[in-house]
Amino acid sequence: MTGPIGRELAEELDSADPLAGLRDQFVNSEPAMIYLDGNSLGRLPAATPAFLDRVVREGWGTGLVRSWHTWIDWANRLGDRLAEHVLGARPGEVVVSDSTSVNLFKLASAALDANPKRRTIVIDAEDFPTNRYIMQGLADSRGLSVRTIRSDMDNGLEPADLRAALDDDVALVVLSLVAYRCGALMDMGTVNDMARRAGAFVLWDVSHAAGVVPIDLDAAGADLAVGCTYKYLNGGPGSPAFLYVRRELHSVLRQPIWGWFGQRDQFDMGVAYDPVERIERFLVSTPPLLSLAAIDPALTLIEEAGVDRLRDKGMRLTRLVAALGEQWLVPLGFRLASPADPRVRGSHVSFEHPDAWRICRALATTGGVVCDYRMPDRLRIGPSPAYTSFVDVWDAMDRIRETVARGDHEHLPHARAQVT
Ligand SMILES: *Cc1c(COP(=O)(O)O)cnc(C)c1O
Repeated sequence: MTGPIGRELAEELDSADPLAGLRDQFVNSEPAMIYLDGNSLGRLPAATPAFLDRVVREGWGTGLVRSWHTWIDWANRLGDRLAEHVLGARPGEVVVSDSTSVNLFKLASAALDANPKRRTIVIDAEDFPTNRYIMQGLADSRGLSVRTIRSDMDNGLEPADLRAALDDDVALVVLSLVAYRCGALMDMGTVNDMARRAGAFVLWDVSHAAGVVPIDLDAAGADLAVGCTYKYLNGGPGSPAFLYVRRELHSVLRQPIWGWFGQRDQFDMGVAYDPVERIERFLVSTPPLLSLAAIDPALTLIEEAGVDRLRDKGMRLTRLVAALGEQWLVPLGFRLASPADPRVRGSHVSFEHPDAWRICRALATTGGVVCDYRMPDRLRIGPSPAYTSFVDVWDAMDRIRETVARGDHEHLPHARAQVT
């Protein structure tokens, strides 16, 4: 884009947007606030409250324990829908269960057990904290070592740096497809090939990609993946996560939490643990049904929109964010801290500013923009393509500029809140 970007451009982009109508299918009870944090907690789909009300009143209230006849395979049915529409996996390769952290633990343990002669786990120093902590904990408890690659905080991991970290002691590589801070998008196929040649498993975390970036786990040769449903998939706060295990590994891998939901003929209440050779092998326990249910209406919206179209819009949205950032924020002391090319970033963009924390607070309290702050000094802007318009982006960037130019953040405390 050249020359100043006026609001009319955003209006034109909205009128040509095939997904423009989708925003009406989400609750927006505070229209004066522009929400650019869909990568942390997606908005509430308009259909979700009534759907949950039915599950609660009819399923729980009336049906009581009898409802488990219909509920028992929801985790699989949702998994199959995610497989088909979001993850590029085959039926029976994805299931919804537990949290992303717990699934990381389960699948990483399974991979380490399957590669017992190797003693090293490779992680990225800039990966989401839980991913690093879980791997360090696993390594400590098993006497393994963690090899940490230092990826670029703004541009993500270089494949060459990963290649240099691989040798015949590496059992497992854990990486995020889209980096949570800067949004850098990795080439999954390249990494899988590299790791396979080195004899290591790759465990992918697709939390920041699912629902906004086309993922083809099978075609990319992925073995293992996990991810959230409460970010761009809009499943609600703490909605259960998903896990993927390539079909050929179902009989080979064994996860460490031997719960009864993985058991063959579960209701035979057998003496010894004998897990099925299907994706349920990676389940542990009774699903949190109400949170699980909320994924259903949310996923319907993603299916209708289609991830390819969401991706297309997501790239245009972040391109506008970056261009307006260049126009308005760079002169105010910001710096783009994400890959410049929208094809190699997900659906969020970060800017560095020494006062990012206080600016983020000022935006949320008086600036009319909710985005988020990430350590050490990043303002992270995540315009979810399902419900964010181009005018939202234009107005939000204008508000950020005004807030900072007026110095609205300058009287706020430096101390960070418990949740950022
Ligand atoms: C959001 C996110 C998580 C969250 O994990 P929980 O167990 O749901 O708290 C984990 N990893 C990545 C990469 C994430 O983006």
